[in-house]
Amino acid sequence: MLSSKLIKEAALAAGADACGIAPIARMKGAPDEMNPMFLFPEAKSMIGFVFRIPRGVQRGIEEGTQFYQYPSMAYGGINEIFAPAVLYSVGKVIEDGGYEAFVYRNTGARGCVSDMDGSEGNTLSPEEQIEVNENAKTSTAHHRNVQFTRATREDNVPPDLQFQFRLAAVACGLGEIGWSKMLLTPEFGPLQRVAFIFTDAEFDEYDEMYNGEPLCRKCGACVRECPGGCIPAINSGKTITVDIEGKISEWGDIDMWRCYAFYTHAGRYYNPFVPKEVWDKNENGALDLMEGVTDIADEHEIMKVYTALQKYFPSWVGYNMAKCGGCIRACVSMLEKKGGCMENRFKEPLRTRKKAWRLDR
Ligand code: SF4
Ligand code: SF4
Repeated sequence: MLSSKLIKEAALAAGADACGIAPIARMKGAPDEMNPMFLFPEAKSMIGFVFRIPRGVQRGIEEGTQFYQYPSMAYGGINEIFAPAVLYSVGKVIEDGGYEAFVYRNTGARGCVSDMDGSEGNTLSPEEQIEVNENAKTSTAHHRNVQFTRATREDNVPPDLQFQFRLAAVACGLGEIGWSKMLLTPEFGPLQRVAFIFTDAEFDEYDEMYNGEPLCRKCGACVRECPGGCIPAINSGKTITVDIEGKISEWGDIDMWRCYAFYTHAGRYYNPFVPKEVWDKNENGALDLMEGVTDIADEHEIMKVYTALQKYFPSWVGYNMAKCGGCIRACVSMLEKKGGCMENRFKEPLRTRKKAWRLDR
């Protein structure tokens, strides 16, 4: 048995911003191919770590002046540097106590089902495919899943197993899922990323799941400020509901492929890097989805968008160069102004103007 206090102190000392510990059995209702209990069958506990996203990495997008800090610091930096370093440190403390630490950093596109829509089979990863086409000069397809994976023994699931990070964070007592499908925490609202350790250690104390005031106000700000209309209206009835040992999480059934196009390329009114003429011309219908000519949002339509637009902002950071930040900024703004988990954290609000900017074209 390990001390929960010892591990939490180690987590915070190493640089995590919050930490929650739960019996791994809370995940038993997850579908097999996304159930972390298969990762390490002897595991008894899971530890969730929160890494805050500094509000300031959104400032450039809020002002319309700088778009690089959010993808590089808040995606790349946390996923590739800050979180793995904490997992490594805390993992050592667990293993010094005689138990194993299965560290699990954020990753994507490695599961036997697509991390976009849960489907099996070929699900293209447009930005990687373009990179391969242009730089490697091959036509080898890249995907949002691993296509030919097989279970390595009977009664097992195919590698690499990916689980739903946000629900695992809920199970660890770290927060709740908002309408926009973002994880909201009492400390940082929608501004964080998470990572996990699974261990065969039991703990002297486990965290309960969050049971305070609902963290999502169901205000619909995220719906209104999404440039692609990807998030259904609050009263649309389009919801996804998950029950974790009696705690119900419910969020809007977001069109994930549509978001794939819009969060990177934002559209005519929110992407200052793409000239107006490119939107006007819509060569070969490549921008049909972004321009509302078609409603079909699938990997092939998204490939067309990425192929047409990626040259206008060619700074890869290993992560999509997010330009919209619409739902996250809307959520922070609303929770700061109307009350909720972002209230009174900052002396000045994120949004100092009445409305977010929109290009006039
Ligand atoms: S990330 Fe952007 S495009 Fe995606 S749902 Fe949020 S606001 Fe919409
Ligand atoms: S913007 Fe409002 S509705 Fe959307 S996730 Fe945040 S609190 Fe919930």
